[in-house]
Amino acid sequence: MDVVIVGAGSAGLLAALTLLSERPGASVRMVDAGLPLDDRGRAGPSLGGSGGAGLYLGGRLYVGPAAIPPASPVSTMPGARAIVSGDAYSELARQVDALFTRLGAVAPVRDLPDERLRELIERARDEGLEYVTSYPARFLTADERRRVLDGLFAELRRAGARFTYGTHVADIRRTDDGFALTLRPAGGAEGARAHIEARALILAPGRYGAEWLAGTVTSLGAGVAALPSAFGVRLELPAAVYAPLTAINPDPRLQLPLASDAVVKTYATCPGGYVTPVTRYGRRVASGVPVPADARGPSTTVAVLAQPGVAGAAGAWADGEHAAKRVNDRYPGTLAVQRMGDIRAGRATTARAMDANTVRPTYRDAAPGDLRDLYPDAFWATCEHLLSRIERLAPGVRSDDVLAYAPAEERFWHFPTDERMQTTVPGLFVAGDGPGHSQGSIQAGVAGTLAGRGAAAYLAERANS
Ligand SMILES: Cc1cc2nc3c(=O)[nH]c(=O)nc-3n(C[C@H](O)[C@H](O)[C@H](O)COP(=O)(O)OP(=O)(O)OC[C@H]3O[C@@H](n4cnc5c(N)ncnc54)[C@H](O)[C@@H]3O)c2cc1C
Repeated sequence: MDVVIVGAGSAGLLAALTLLSERPGASVRMVDAGLPLDDRGRAGPSLGGSGGAGLYLGGRLYVGPAAIPPASPVSTMPGARAIVSGDAYSELARQVDALFTRLGAVAPVRDLPDERLRELIERARDEGLEYVTSYPARFLTADERRRVLDGLFAELRRAGARFTYGTHVADIRRTDDGFALTLRPAGGAEGARAHIEARALILAPGRYGAEWLAGTVTSLGAGVAALPSAFGVRLELPAAVYAPLTAINPDPRLQLPLASDAVVKTYATCPGGYVTPVTRYGRRVASGVPVPADARGPSTTVAVLAQPGVAGAAGAWADGEHAAKRVNDRYPGTLAVQRMGDIRAGRATTARAMDANTVRPTYRDAAPGDLRDLYPDAFWATCEHLLSRIERLAPGVRSDDVLAYAPAEERFWHFPTDERMQTTVPGLFVAGDGPGHSQGSIQAGVAGTLAGRGAAAYLAERANS
């Protein structure tokens, strides 16, 4: 095999298409832990599979100016630089968007937010909050998303790409000729392990594959540096309370910049969704499960995270990264939950208080308890600042019956690459949300385009040497 691409989201798909157009006849296999397109709709909610997360589930295309990696609101790694920005980025983004249009995306480009969103952004600004969004943008319907994905897969098949689904790439090692991959059935299913070899690799496992990516890339000898963790809690509140925000955008991202080189922000909102424990970073953390619009329940869940920069994490926020471990140690094997009213009143939440609470927990096995001393005091103070500002946009957010599940944590890494997305190991490319190159489908597509070009050039150089 010439190239194996791990991940069939925006980044992986654009990488494959670019690679095969620049190097027709190359043998390319895409491996994804999730399901093929036709099976995804029939299965339960899942963030992975053909089309990945954003292109399959969201379809909001942000086509405005950006950079790879995206600009950060807090301090980052000394020496980290943009791989592509300005006109060069815009031209690549235009090409990705034009491809989607050719394949069946007809939604018009909106230069500015509509009136409702504009008003919300202004009201957020009046409260000192940044409403994170980007324009111009276009919003694909479910039918358009399906047409685009059908078209992408048809073109890839015509160009000779092969696909393996339901398969997790477990580990990878270097060989004399490139890389050897061990594959196993995804989701813990029993089954024989398989092995494949490739001259070059493009790893595009998305945000939820970032931890796997950091471990894998490190084990292959490429440089990776851990960035400060974002830590906090996942709130659960009545869906109707958050509806003034989620009716306009299902995942409204609000952030409050802090003087201490940090932001406190809302993250991964799931309107009508539910909370579930997942194992991430060797810890049990509270995750939100998004559900389709026609299957939504009575609660909305949204993480509130403090995100320090490199300087902030070494200073005022130094203790935050251990919060998740402290919660796991006190509440082993489950999530902890506390009423926001009890956090404010300085008392633990009891099982009886949970029984009487108006917000019913969607994760019923969470242990009621006390989270206050497990987080830096500054976290609760900034969480309150954030919620009291959001309260003016969505009255009821500061209700004492809102539930805080813990821990919530997001980790990030810096993956040094050249402008072709090649790591410090020749032939090893990374792209998309996983390595932190993107935060959206178009941006991930741009990163994938660069990785596809890079891998094509790498194969050409090898063939000529
Ligand atoms: C619910 C949701 C909705 C979103 N909506 C939007 C939106 O509307 N617009 C937008 O711009 N962005 C959206 N995003 C963000 C968006 O997902 C990304 O920016 C974009 O999809 C990233 O593309 P990617 O290719 O890097 O990763 P992904 O799309 O996440 O794809 C990664 C793929 O890799 C696979 N994978 C991971 N690890 C392995 C492994 N070890 N072995 C095999 N396969 C593996 C996964 O199964 C997955 O299919 C959304 C995100 C979520 C979670």
